[in-house]
Parts: sequence; C-alpha cells; structure tokens
Amino acid sequence: MSKYDVIIIGSGPGGYVSAIRCAQLGLKTAIIEKYATLGGTCLNVGCIPSKALLDSSEHYSKAVHEFSEHGILVDAPKIDFAQMIARKQSVVDQTCDGVKFLMSKNKIDVHYGTGSFIDATHVKVAKTEGGEETLEGKNIIIATGSKPIELPFAKFDKERIISSTEALKLKEIPKHLIVIGGGVIGLELGSVYQRLGSEVTVVEFMDSIIPTMDSTMGKELQRTLKKAGMKFNLSHKVSKVSRKGDEVTVTATNKKGEEVAITGDYCLVAVGRKAYTAGLNAEAVGVKLDDRGRIETNDHLQTSVPTIYAIGDVVKGAMLAHKAEEEGVLVAEILAGQKPHINYNLIPGVVYTWPEVASVGQTEEELKAAGVAIKIGSFPIRALGRARASMDIDGLVKIIADAKTDEVLGMHIIAARAADLIMEGVTAMEFRASAEDIARMSHGHPTYSEAIKEAALAATDNRALHV
Ligand SMILES: Cc1cc2nc3c(=O)[nH]c(=O)nc-3n(C[C@H](O)[C@H](O)[C@H](O)COP(=O)(O)OP(=O)(O)OC[C@H]3O[C@@H](n4cnc5c(N)ncnc54)[C@H](O)[C@@H]3O)c2cc1C
Repeated sequence: MSKYDVIIIGSGPGGYVSAIRCAQLGLKTAIIEKYATLGGTCLNVGCIPSKALLDSSEHYSKAVHEFSEHGILVDAPKIDFAQMIARKQSVVDQTCDGVKFLMSKNKIDVHYGTGSFIDATHVKVAKTEGGEETLEGKNIIIATGSKPIELPFAKFDKERIISSTEALKLKEIPKHLIVIGGGVIGLELGSVYQRLGSEVTVVEFMDSIIPTMDSTMGKELQRTLKKAGMKFNLSHKVSKVSRKGDEVTVTATNKKGEEVAITGDYCLVAVGRKAYTAGLNAEAVGVKLDDRGRIETNDHLQTSVPTIYAIGDVVKGAMLAHKAEEEGVLVAEILAGQKPHINYNLIPGVVYTWPEVASVGQTEEELKAAGVAIKIGSFPIRALGRARASMDIDGLVKIIADAKTDEVLGMHIIAARAADLIMEGVTAMEFRASAEDIARMSHGHPTYSEAIKEAALAATDNRALHV
C-alpha cells in the first residue's frame, strides 16, 4: 500500500495547485482524478474552453461589425465552426498537458480512478484501467468540485436541453438559443453564440442579470448586450421545458402572472452549480455536509474529521477557480505548519462578456444595507482616448470609498479588459489604499486604466479631469 503525507481527491484548480504547494513544502503527495485528463472543470469544461470560444467569437464579431470602420475590407467573413471547436479543444489539451507536466516536475503521484474513503486516513481508488488500490494518507484533501444544477422539469438530454458542458462542444451554431439563467456562465456562453449569429434569449428569475454583482454593472451589461442583439426576459419564472424533435419550448410566468412560451432549437440551462460528492463515501467516515450538500469546514478548511480537509467548489463560497487555488495553497501551508490567511473579501469576480465585468470588495447595495457612509466616484469608458481608438467605448468604472476615511471598499468595472484591470483594485484594497492614493498615482496614457484613476479622482472630491 502506498503511503503519503497528503492525498488529494480531484485535480481541478483547487486540487492540482494544492498538490504543487504540498510538494514544494516537502510533503509526499498523491492526487486522484477520475477523468482521463487533469485540470478539472476549469481546464476541461469551464474557464479555459469558454474563454477560447469567447475569443474566437469576438474575432468573428469584430470582422463582421468593426473591420470596415477600421478601413479593413474583407469579403463577408464565414465561420468554420468545426475548426473553432477544434481550436478550443487544442487549447484545452495543451493546458491539461501542462498540469500533467507540473505533476511530474513536482514528483506528485497521479492515480487515475475514482477515490472513495475507507476511513479517516485511507482512500480506495477504483482505477480507470481496472482494479483497485488503497492509499494511506496522514491527511486527505477533498477537491471534488461541482456539477451543473439540473432543474427538475428540465432534465438534460445533452442534445437540445444542455448544460455548459455540451454548449462548449456543439456540432452546429444554434438558430435560437434560449438561456435559462442570466448569471456568469449563461451570459458568457450566450455571448459566444449571439456573436456567431444565433438569436439568443435569456430568461432570468430575478429582475436583473448578474444579480449578485453591483446593480450598476448588471444594468450597463444588459444595455450593451441588448444593443448587440441579445434578448432578455427578466422576472420570468420558468416552469416547463419541453422538446419536440429539434424544437425546445421554455414556458415561464412573467411579473404580471402571464404565461410566456419561447421556442428555440437549443436550451442552455445555466442556473448554477452544486457541490459534487457522489461516490466519495465521505459521510460514512464522518465528514459532515451542510444543507446545500457542501462539505462543512472550519476556518482552516478542516472538515468534521480532523485528518480530512476540503477546498474549492465543494465547500462554501464563490465557485471560482482562483478561490479554489487560494484554498489549495492555504491547506498545504497549514499542513506544513504555517499560518496562512485568505482575504475572501478581495477575491475578484469576473464575467468575460464584452465588455467584461469585474469587481472586488463590496457593492453599493451591500454597503448601504450595512449602514456604512460611502462616497462613489464613476467614470465612463467612452471618455477615454484609448477606448475611442479601439472602438470599445461601453462601460464605466465605479469606485466606492468610505465617506470618512476615504478607504476604497469596492471597485466595480465594466469595460474592455476589466478582468485584468480589476487587479489594480485588488492590490489597492489589499494595501488598504484610499481613493486619493489611487487618484495620485500616475497611470499610463492612453490606457483603460486611466478610467480607474479618473473614478478615484471623482470619489476623492469630485474632480475627475476628463468629463
Ligand atoms: C462554463 C464555465 C466557465 C467557468 N469560467 C470560469 C472563469 O472564467 N473563472 C473562474 O474563476 N471560474 C470559472 N468557472 C468555475 C471554475 O471552473 C470552478 O470554480 C473550478 O473549476 C473549481 O475548482 P475545483 O478544484 O474546486 O473543482 P473542479 O475543477 O470541479 O475539479 C474537481 C475534479 O475532481 C474530480 N473528481 C470528483 N470526484 C472524484 C472522485 N471521487 N475521485 C477522483 N476524482 C474526482 C473531477 O473529475 C474533477 O476533475 C467556470 C465554470 C464553468 C462551468
């Protein structure tokens, strides 16, 4: 029987990053993965393939709508969809191979198969190649991630009623894609197909899209996506999804109580994801789950069984790859006797639509509900020279600071490359900067980041320079 200091179940961004950090700290480490490739949801059917298709579709959209304005004349651009999907797959394959390389570089043993607990220190691996083996670990980290939520009345048939996984490998571009759920995944994949020419209708239960982010972001994003042609049915409660041949009909009730039926050829159900623990046998060895099926942990991500820890999508908190990574590092360092810390308030949230949306810290709604006296500075992206040069004029930067101390409490950006820009907010807030600190820093010209300086100037004493 192989013996380890640490056994990690699941090779997503939580698991594989944790394995690397454990190995760096001198711990003998094994990772178990039931799929044929490493990298989990993020690399195989999440972050990476979705961004590959978002980039391809964005190139196509620019060729159709913007090239002529730039003075570039091309005959009507055509889509080779099979090639687009093949390129996405090659990006995924390269990235997964990269993780495999990192495992061998760090001398981490990879066991392909399904892991399940025997007791607090032993895991049985039902090997992919057949047979079983038992591994012993002083500590075990559960990093088994999450799966798409299935609506009881809209079972995935994986052909026409699909989850994000199938949406990343369709054989054709839908004529009319109905997206249930106006959250991050629905809007990103909806954007891909809207840019490629599909009619896209988003049906959302809440009265705004990306409802957990600052409300200004949802409003501005809806405006720009609507301008691009996406349709929105907000405050609609879906009650039925039915399929007849190649047609899918979504039935919902609107705010007035009227029944609305929308018919398309594909329906993407993107109503969230749930923690995945099936087959793990965790509860049998004493690991407690919460009322939402997530593994319960203390502040050190230790479960109710002291030798077992859990990280990433399978525990509470934002379902984000970089949150899973931070937790993987935290547990590795705890096991090595260190005292690490994660500032969960500063984990940025990103939506890779175009414009992108990114935020860190608290929203205006959260701060007002908490009774915090705040001041807000905003700056429109269209006022930037950089934005006009690239024709990416939609969006704004919103900085929220404490009214008394001027400390930045939240930064919310909707703009080209907001996903990268938000790191200025994360850095500033990690060092507890004031809005004036940001306002007084020189920002390169012409850049999108000038909008952050201008919003900070606006928050400081309403002295933005370029509006
Ligand atoms: C379409 C889409 C787009 C996304 N885009 C982004 C994005 O842009 N940015 C971002 O931060 N996040 C994004 N996410 C979310 C991100 O993918 C997840 O937050 C992240 O993958 C969670 O990492 P994890 O390590 O907790 O679990 P996962 O990545 O889900 O990995 C869990 C792994 O455990 C394995 N496993 C499960 N049970 C067992 C078992 N018993 N034995 C062995 N192996 C097992 C699974 O096969 C899987 O490989 C996206 C998700 C989706 C679906």
